[in-house]
Amino acid sequence: MPDTPPVFRFAPSPNGLLHLGHALSAMLNHDMAKATNGRFLLRIEDIDQTRCRPEFETAISRDLAWLGLDWERPVRRQSDHLDAYASALERLNELGVVYPSVMTRGEIKAAVAEAEADGRTWPRDPDGSPLYPGRERTCSASERADLLASGRAYAWRLDMQKAISLLGGTPLTWDESGAGPMDEAGVILANPAAWGDVILSRSDAPSSYHLSVVVDDALQGVTHVVRGRDLYHATSVHRLLQRLLDLPQPLYHHHRLILGPDGRKLSKSNQDTGIAAFRAAGRTPEEVRALIV
Ligand code: GLU
Repeated sequence: MPDTPPVFRFAPSPNGLLHLGHALSAMLNHDMAKATNGRFLLRIEDIDQTRCRPEFETAISRDLAWLGLDWERPVRRQSDHLDAYASALERLNELGVVYPSVMTRGEIKAAVAEAEADGRTWPRDPDGSPLYPGRERTCSASERADLLASGRAYAWRLDMQKAISLLGGTPLTWDESGAGPMDEAGVILANPAAWGDVILSRSDAPSSYHLSVVVDDALQGVTHVVRGRDLYHATSVHRLLQRLLDLPQPLYHHHRLILGPDGRKLSKSNQDTGIAAFRAAGRTPEEVRALIV
């Protein structure tokens, strides 16, 4: 039986122009696919329709093509596949590991500020956001039904402790070929509990990054996830969702981040390091590649 080729993907969100950090990610994926006779996919992660724009999607294709990259068509656009994410959420609901939560961002902020003013240290996730302070996970079935029928906006959250308990004590790990800390075999012990009850869908965004990324990687047969170090800790949540949803486990490679002159991670609003700015300044794709790879 012929071996199936490895599958790599670059998965930007069209909420701004691509910068050097994206170029590094895209080039690494493309080069690794080429070196292994693998496939290279582009996936448009446009779940957050309040921030994503079609013109940025067009700019992504233009910038990647200018860099000399080629990818398979058709391109998967997440907003075209909301049913797939809804089915995954339904599966998690059947497992009893999700609950509707009603606290707004403002209410969360106020509750945490109050606890901290009382001298308590409030736990924060690896991105620095406070863990969810609401108690809706403990609602009875009838309280939950009332809440869903009340017309209040709510977000579905993962009941993290319950989800972890379903693993039955089997360690949750991933295989990493990029940045550590890891054991000698490149195996990392995941720590999803650090994220608390993450959001899986909300009224203004029908699926979250975490949920759609694991569903899509599985549906597209992605074997290698190559992405920036900023998403390293998110892999703990992805591995947990993969286990709960019975999805295959890709190999992970988290690459270094390119920092701006201020020593911070590049952002899409910093146009000096945008690919389009390099092109407009008359730089060649080879020069851009030499700067980063
Ligand atoms: N869409 C994510 C971003 O633009 C990347 C997702 C991933 O590579 O897993 O940061």
